[in-house]
Amino acid sequence: MSVIHSLDAEGGLGVLRRQDPELADILLGERRRQSTTLQLIAAENFTSPSVLAALGSPLANKYAEGYPGARHHGGCEIVDVAERIAVDRAKALFGAAHANVQPHSGSSAVLAAYAALLRPGDTVLALGLPYGGHLTHGSPANFSGRWFDFVGYGVDAETGLIDHDQVRTLARSHRPKAIVCGSIAYPRHIDHAFFREVADEAGACLIADAAHPIGLVAGGAAPNPVPYADIVCATTHKVLRGPRGGMILCGGELAERVDRAVFPFTQGGAQMHTIAAKAVAFGEAATPAFAAYAHRVVANAKVLAAALTAEGLVVTTGGTDTHLITADPAPLGPDGRTARGLLAAAGLVMDCCALPHGTERGLRLGTAALTTQGMGEKEMTSVAALLAGVLRGEIDTRRARAEARELAERFPPYPG
Ligand SMILES: *Cc1c(COP(=O)(O)O)cnc(C)c1O
Repeated sequence: MSVIHSLDAEGGLGVLRRQDPELADILLGERRRQSTTLQLIAAENFTSPSVLAALGSPLANKYAEGYPGARHHGGCEIVDVAERIAVDRAKALFGAAHANVQPHSGSSAVLAAYAALLRPGDTVLALGLPYGGHLTHGSPANFSGRWFDFVGYGVDAETGLIDHDQVRTLARSHRPKAIVCGSIAYPRHIDHAFFREVADEAGACLIADAAHPIGLVAGGAAPNPVPYADIVCATTHKVLRGPRGGMILCGGELAERVDRAVFPFTQGGAQMHTIAAKAVAFGEAATPAFAAYAHRVVANAKVLAAALTAEGLVVTTGGTDTHLITADPAPLGPDGRTARGLLAAAGLVMDCCALPHGTERGLRLGTAALTTQGMGEKEMTSVAALLAGVLRGEIDTRRARAEARELAERFPPYPG
């Protein structure tokens, strides 16, 4: 029986409700919110009941510093097997010689990658934050910007595509120790061969931060960075549909440095419930059903991008290769920030993002969660019409909310 199902039957939640009704109501309220509004946040998804079962298991109790067979705690013989399975499945799924499944998050994975390859003060070339770089790619508010000397490349203001000439020029003039490719908002495939070539020319390491597309990679719907990058950082909770967490993939020659950079350098005890849940998710991601899912995610995003364009939004780069779309809603009236608020009130939940041109904010949305719910191209067209109707002020919040709810409830994320 699934965890969610047992919540319904007052199993898991029943225990909590008797002890702590205040928190039980919050869990139930969030579950309702997720199943009665449309989750368009590009980084979110619905994990399977099996992943939730592993997360809610007594593996959460186990302390396990170190690695399988070399732990600093007793009683690790069973969780060691879980971690070995997770590592083996990740290696097979992505064709990597080595996998570390312990990073607590995508950011922790990036921190460990830098720790494995760099020293404080080293120069790193990465996509600038105004163009879709992640906090860990040199934000002054983040350790990365404080401890390393980041140089940012950008995207072309007209096309929204990565400015390859600028990447090459900056690599030649700054001679970075590492080049990072990867973004929180780039809707197109990244040309890993290009970045490898530039890194080799500059004598730099290449770090691919594939937090977003790694699930598409698993399903064969996006190019695999593993053959090109020295280190690939990823999350397990975005399109990949696993538990919240990170992982690192690399070649055998960096295995030991990467492992030591995760533990003991930047983390303590591994979270064994999450690692077991990662193993479950990797098992799911290796199935033909997941490959079909990954391709549907992209097909849905392409339809949604085209429908948003037809409604008058300006879709960055003119479309998408992935699950992710960024768009300027201004032609319909509201700017990105106002639009996000109007849409949230209407039950369409998404983010703001930077746009390649100017200082106005845009909208960032994705199709991973809706596709997990079973929505297809017809529903994407409905979502675009609803979104545009709200932004033009043609559909009032109440009616939009009812329509979003009706659509969401026809595709329950956790049926039963
Ligand atoms: C999501 C993301 C991360 C960080 O993931 P967290 O789990 O939130 O720390 C890092 N890099 C990129 C490019 C991302 O998209």
